[in-house]
Amino acid sequence: MKIQIDQDRCVGCGRCTEMCASVFKLNEEGKAVVIKEKITECENEPQGEECAIVSEAVKKAADECIVEAIDIDMEIK
Ligand code: SF4
Repeated sequence: MKIQIDQDRCVGCGRCTEMCASVFKLNEEGKAVVIKEKITECENEPQGEECAIVSEAVKKAADECIVEAIDIDMEIK
């Protein structure tokens, strides 16, 4: 899975960073950036149950991004 964020679309709401802090963070401009672009399925997240499986948390964040700025490519391993 490869994850990308469209910086022009992101409004910096922080939802994705709340849902999966090991993959998303807000930069100094208040836009979300990906700190881990490629993850494998079922990779365990060390902190907390909400991110128990990182790939599921990333998919949920992409679904819930209000401006659809998060792009996931499942073909890339
Ligand atoms: S949920 Fe979407 S709009 Fe909000 S910070 Fe993340 S990428 Fe940006």
